[in-house]
Amino acid sequence: MIAVIGGGVMGASIAYHLALKGARQVVLLERGTMCCGETARSGGFIQTHWSSLAETRLIDFSRSLFQQWGERCGWVNSGYLHVTGPEKLESVRTVHEMLLSDGKESQWLDQRGIKKLQPLMRVDDLVGAAYEPQSGWADPVATTLLLATLASERGVELREGVTVLQIVHRSGKVIGLETDQGFLEAEKVVLAVGPWTPGLHPDPRVQLPILARRGQVCYMTRPGGLPRRELACYDEITGLYSHPDGETNLVGIDWEFDPVYHPDRCDRQLDVDYLAAALQALTHRFPSLRSSQLVRGVVGLYDFTPDGHPVVDGPLGIEGYYVAAGFSGAGFKSAPALGLGVAELVLEGRARSVDLDFLRLARFSR
Ligand SMILES: Cc1cc2nc3c(=O)[nH]c(=O)nc-3n(C[C@H](O)[C@H](O)[C@H](O)COP(=O)(O)OP(=O)(O)OC[C@H]3O[C@@H](n4cnc5c(N)ncnc54)[C@H](O)[C@@H]3O)c2cc1C
Repeated sequence: MIAVIGGGVMGASIAYHLALKGARQVVLLERGTMCCGETARSGGFIQTHWSSLAETRLIDFSRSLFQQWGERCGWVNSGYLHVTGPEKLESVRTVHEMLLSDGKESQWLDQRGIKKLQPLMRVDDLVGAAYEPQSGWADPVATTLLLATLASERGVELREGVTVLQIVHRSGKVIGLETDQGFLEAEKVVLAVGPWTPGLHPDPRVQLPILARRGQVCYMTRPGGLPRRELACYDEITGLYSHPDGETNLVGIDWEFDPVYHPDRCDRQLDVDYLAAALQALTHRFPSLRSSQLVRGVVGLYDFTPDGHPVVDGPLGIEGYYVAAGFSGAGFKSAPALGLGVAELVLEGRARSVDLDFLRLARFSR
């Protein structure tokens, strides 16, 4: 039996890929209902404009799966626009060049090109933008439920309402799980419970440097009509990120991520200061949206590691024990590729289709 713990996008993707690769006797355990955790709060951005080449490859691989799943995962191929002023010009250009040299699509736009693409955007303080026509966003809940359904159709047992209390091991080997509904035998266990991961990690000799932090995002009304293009964008000057979401706009801003000492005791109220700053940034970049009003605020938990990359590794200290966590606010966009990689790691001892070597835990001891 292979037990995957955590019914978020990561656990669902791992379970689906295990089944796709022919694994039998796979169970996906979720303490609530599928996708009741942090994935449900995700903005769903999918763009390859990211700092590490290895991670952009995982995102690129994942993006092709999102494209393939299309409407079933709420995929919106809007394009992604990353605008910058003079201060961050060099770093944005560096990522743009990195993508081009790796054969990925990225276009460089000047003020006029930006305005043509997004006429609502104020451009006088911008010096350029990297534009990815193939990117966009997908619906995190639809994606997770799709993967769980596909997994179930291929024989994975989905068990909701089961809380795992402990991963049990003997003589250096996993033997099963203690749950609130009794003991479950398993030779292999994949721990994918996002910010709850350190609490279930079974080996005190191996430190998992994952810290839960609180992050926020707003959904606002869209006065002044819809943007002509449903673009996803990030603004290096104000820290604003946005994309339309149904009748609202997702409006986020770079903000302090406060540490959370227990993931079940996180303040889920949006900060008024955050809302004010997000609205100011939105108004600066999109003046016609100045009378936007808050529809709902979302406060979520990010599972951060010191270098912003997840830990995807195993067996880790104990035979049969694997971890996929620490996604640092970016796990959704790479979940399809990571699910495949973890399935290969568990079944074949090594991820062959994608590179997971850079995500090993040992990098922190180096
Ligand atoms: C506000 C916000 C916005 C984000 N925006 C983006 C974005 O735009 N793009 C992007 O790529 N990423 C984004 N992310 C990050 C991304 O959403 C996460 O990295 C990803 O969803 C993590 O998925 P997961 O499956 O690891 O965790 P989760 O979805 O949290 O799943 C873990 C599951 O484990 C379950 N669980 C916990 N303890 C137990 C237990 N003891 N027994 C059984 N089950 C248990 C929980 O109930 C939960 O359902 C965002 C995150 C947040 C919070």
